[in-house]
Amino acid sequence: MRHRIAVVGGGPAGLTFARVLHRHGHPVAVLERDPSPDARPPGGTLDLHEGLGQRALEKAGLLAEFRKVSRPEGQAMRILDPDGTVLRDWQPRPDERANPEIDRGRLRDLLLGPLDVRWGQDVTQVVPGMRDGALVRFADGREETFDLVIGADGAWSRTRAAVSPVTPHYTGVTFVETSLDDIDTRHPDLARLVGDGSMAVYGANRALVAQRNSGGHVKVYAQFRAPLDWHTELDLADGEAVRAHLLTLFDGWAAPVLDFLRRGTAFVHRPLHVLPVSHTWTHVPGVTLLGDAAHLMPPLGAGANLAMLEGAELAESLAAGSGDPDEAVRAHEERMWDRAGRWAELTAAGLERLVNPDPAQAVALFDEVQPS
Ligand SMILES: Cc1cc2nc3c(=O)[nH]c(=O)nc-3n(C[C@H](O)[C@H](O)[C@H](O)COP(=O)(O)OP(=O)(O)OC[C@H]3O[C@@H](n4cnc5c(N)ncnc54)[C@H](O)[C@@H]3O)c2cc1C
Repeated sequence: MRHRIAVVGGGPAGLTFARVLHRHGHPVAVLERDPSPDARPPGGTLDLHEGLGQRALEKAGLLAEFRKVSRPEGQAMRILDPDGTVLRDWQPRPDERANPEIDRGRLRDLLLGPLDVRWGQDVTQVVPGMRDGALVRFADGREETFDLVIGADGAWSRTRAAVSPVTPHYTGVTFVETSLDDIDTRHPDLARLVGDGSMAVYGANRALVAQRNSGGHVKVYAQFRAPLDWHTELDLADGEAVRAHLLTLFDGWAAPVLDFLRRGTAFVHRPLHVLPVSHTWTHVPGVTLLGDAAHLMPPLGAGANLAMLEGAELAESLAAGSGDPDEAVRAHEERMWDRAGRWAELTAAGLERLVNPDPAQAVALFDEVQPS
């Protein structure tokens, strides 16, 4: 196979795709908008499932390294009532490897390895159907053609418009994220509450989730149902105003739970958007999508996993094919639509139950999905 292939985006999807192609000895241009790997905070922790993200890492030859840097103890999960009562306290067995956690930054470094990413490449448009392939336009005015362009550029993908007119819509649920550093030394009481993994508190139409990352870093997500413009009276850049608003929203919850909001630093607004369940398109030669660009869904532990497996599988079939890459791309799209459609349905229903007028729904969902 000697086709010119570009992948737009160096997230979990794009990097896994590129790394598997690299393993098979095929060059690929990774076009990433960020100017460098550390240009912005990499985000929280990801759990990689045995049959999805871990399978992708196996295809990339990285499973053994993943086992060294991931945190199986991070699978621990504690659920509290808003009054502070512990409702569930699930600890993984020492050999439990179903969904170990890994910091996004560590996963990115693992995938980057020998890849030669082209940083600072802001793609504005992909135009299919050109005589010598698909045209990629960049924000600085440059243009370049490739035989195949893979859009792995996330929720607000610029590549997507080449195959589909659909754009994400708001779910009605917003996350506001905050963080605590050095939790074990600076906030030992909260460290005990969050344990080795995650702590979740479910109330009516709102929830608070705290997740341990490595190095004593904890990410906290205040989750609530609200119209998209819930913050019109608020300056989102004013952290103290956001904190005060959240404390009012969660008023009456147990003091230790509210302490996560009282002591958190920097608040990041994350309204949850999704693509329609079962988003598909009429195949367009020379362009396809992977990951969130194709099937943005609620963040319930599937998105990065699917993105990575799709990337790995597409790379493998492109590497194995001898002639027209279009055949591998068509097969990839059918496989992706089928699998992602099922997960999109599950996660949409999951979000409804986790941020629900009846908090018992969230606990029931945990009981259904957690291994006993
Ligand atoms: C709070 C939260 C928690 C989550 N937890 C989990 C979890 O535990 N497990 C899980 O599986 N999933 C989780 N997800 C979902 C997961 O983050 C996404 O599904 C995953 O990151 C998708 O990977 P991706 O590579 O498709 O897109 P992204 O990770 O969004 O990567 C896209 C890349 O493309 C680049 N890019 C964007 N536009 C352009 C452009 N125009 N030109 C060039 N480059 C561009 C971006 O800079 C980025 O590097 C979570 C999401 C959130 C918000």
